[in-house]
Amino acid sequence: MAAKKGKTGEVKGVSKYYELGGDTIKSRKSVCPRCGNGVFLADHGDRQSCGKCGYTEFKK
Ligand SMILES: [Zn+2]
Repeated sequence: MAAKKGKTGEVKGVSKYYELGGDTIKSRKSVCPRCGNGVFLADHGDRQSCGKCGYTEFKK
């Protein structure tokens, strides 16, 4: 009977996550050592990665 429950809210959660990620990138501003030229690394908590070349830097 209640087969339509469960999927609501999934997309909302995903878009919220990306918004938070964008804010974190702005505040960190670590430049990619490979790309340079104002290409910033995306912060993922325990590591940072470049969306352009794929460079990943682990924090300690
Ligand atoms: Zn890069």
